[in-house]
Amino acid sequence: MRRMAWALPAVTLAVTACSVAPAGTPPAAPRPASRPAASPVATPTAPATTEAPAAVAAAATVPPRLPHSPHGGPGRFPPTGSGVLNKKIVLVDPGHNGGNFSAPEIINQLIWNGRESETCDTTGAETDTGYTEAQFNWNVARYLTADLRAAGATVILTRTSNTGVGPCVTKRTALANQAHASAAVSIHADGGPPGGRGFAILEPVADGINNAIIGPSARLGTDLRNAFAAGTGEPVSSYDGINGIQPRDDLAGVNLSTVPKVFIECANMRNPTDAALITTPAWQAKAARAIAAGLTTFLTQR
Ligand SMILES: [Zn+2]
Repeated sequence: MRRMAWALPAVTLAVTACSVAPAGTPPAAPRPASRPAASPVATPTAPATTEAPAAVAAAATVPPRLPHSPHGGPGRFPPTGSGVLNKKIVLVDPGHNGGNFSAPEIINQLIWNGRESETCDTTGAETDTGYTEAQFNWNVARYLTADLRAAGATVILTRTSNTGVGPCVTKRTALANQAHASAAVSIHADGGPPGGRGFAILEPVADGINNAIIGPSARLGTDLRNAFAAGTGEPVSSYDGINGIQPRDDLAGVNLSTVPKVFIECANMRNPTDAALITTPAWQAKAARAIAAGLTTFLTQR
């Protein structure tokens, strides 16, 4: 996510940022032309396996290929293996989209997020060298999807390319609700203060619509936090949340969810140490494996 709140007074730090720009922030502008070309899929899918995600062998060096849905829109992907996640449905939401930069008229449209107005989507964060969060999220999502399917899960993706626009955060959330997903995770990376690093889990706050998923989402968040720390070695955020957990009441993705749902800000793209790590396929695969492990704990032991 693009995180802008760190430049604001400290009192606002805990509740602003990510996919919502603070009031007064200019709408997303088209991307500058200098951004390096993204590196889309290149080689075949990681091999299917019947083992749990945490036991899957060496990660692919490029994100696994997925069949695209029409126009890169949402897609549903059946299991490729059989294992501990048999019969589970998992919604994987790679935040933002590579085409958002050139479609401000679409992504700046206002939606209702359950408490207030929010833009349909945002462009997301990027590293100082221009590696976009949309690309990072998409890469991690593809590794994660392969791991989950190999363990028996059906995976629903909110987008199936990194060249499209949106969909709106309301649509992303509705996809999980309509599928009665066992769990849902939105994958993001932050654009925080350069001196801060680490990851954070963003959890829902009860608002009526999401009341039934507060407890399960907190458990999912804890499982994900523990697995991500263990699997990646990434520290919990030094500036976002407490011990890696940050409740959020300003995101449609958690305000409108009726299935257990959290966001993960995998790292801070503006931090040089984090940026060097997370732009490599090896780290992206490792992050996905850790997310799969956290989801597996939640889905099998809760
Ligand atoms: Zn994001």
